Amino acid sequence: MTDTVPRTLYEEEHEQFRSTVRSFIQAEVAPHDEEWERRGIVDRSLFLRAGDAGLLLHATPEAYGGAGVDDWRFSAVVGEEFGRSGYASAGLSIALQNDVVGPYLLDLTDDGQKRRWLPGLTDGSLVGAIAMTEPDAGSDLSGIATKAVRDGGHYVLDGSKTFISNGQNADVVVVVARTSADRHRGLTLLVVERGMAGFERGRNLDKLGMHGQDTSELHFTDVRVPVENRLGEEGEGFFHLMRNLPRSGCRWRSARCPPPKGCWPARWSTSRSGRRSGDRSAASSTTSSSSPSCTPRSTSPGYSSTTASRCTAARS
Ligand SMILES: Cc1cc2nc3c(=O)[nH]c(=O)nc-3n(C[C@H](O)[C@H](O)[C@H](O)COP(=O)(O)OP(=O)(O)OC[C@H]3O[C@@H](n4cnc5c(N)ncnc54)[C@H](O)[C@@H]3O)c2cc1C
Repeated sequence: MTDTVPRTLYEEEHEQFRSTVRSFIQAEVAPHDEEWERRGIVDRSLFLRAGDAGLLLHATPEAYGGAGVDDWRFSAVVGEEFGRSGYASAGLSIALQNDVVGPYLLDLTDDGQKRRWLPGLTDGSLVGAIAMTEPDAGSDLSGIATKAVRDGGHYVLDGSKTFISNGQNADVVVVVARTSADRHRGLTLLVVERGMAGFERGRNLDKLGMHGQDTSELHFTDVRVPVENRLGEEGEGFFHLMRNLPRSGCRWRSARCPPPKGCWPARWSTSRSGRRSGDRSAASSTTSSSSPSCTPRSTSPGYSSTTASRCTAARS
């Protein structure tokens, strides 16, 4: 594809992949987006089709059913193309799986855990989520209260989470739980799976936008989570979060900066038409409220590439 501003970040193989993603969005997302927005959730088949098209977890090693390509630029291309298309709900669902949940299950899992979860997350038969936020713990994750008490070969998990993306669709949920009173050294990551007794989904929350993204409440009542479902060591959860959150945020933000063609000119033409009709307030509200991330700085390909390069440098 050559109709985006050329950037030095990507190579030919990424641009070829961009065509695949664009075709995928037109064929598999565009026809269904309206219905998903109305229903408040994307269909699970989205993940299967994305897996089939090679859009999920590129870094999964071949032994676990993936391509074994640890190059996050492929994931950035997926994010850019969804951003460009405007199908934000489907885009967030997939980005969550690739950029937010994926790294925990790729980096912190042993061989047995990889065999259980990576093939499904990569072919889309499993949907992932991460549950950090609670009604009383958001930005300050050290305030998490959901607790997990060790009982032989299990942890007994109790608590509630809120605002969890992919919450209704998720089969595999990385839950941040408190295993001791120490604010930072007392958090542990546990994988809760669909069907575990005591794991219930609450409301699929209404939002201002991204109606097709199932941002949900999750409830855990005496859920017996096997020790084999722990990611990393007990008490290390906060440090895994601190390592992964900036990385996924960095990937996320650069991937949220679509090449200008998909966003900026369209917004400007709307704004200009507002101005032409003499309605300056309509012009500014369209530009700011319908697309808050479409600022000149965030849509600049130079800015996107610089951010992306910093991410790459930070990762290596
Ligand atoms: C669409 C959507 C999807 C989400 N998906 C997920 C998900 O998949 N998993 C998950 O765990 N969570 C998810 N969240 C939750 C999100 O991570 C939290 O909303 C976020 O961490 C902020 O927490 P909070 O809403 O409790 O706000 P608060 O922490 O109460 O913050 C409110 C405001 O105060 C500011 N603030 C907070 N602390 C300070 C401080 N010390 N100094 C200065 N300012 C401060 C914040 O910047 C913010 O503007 C999602 C949220 C949304 C809206």
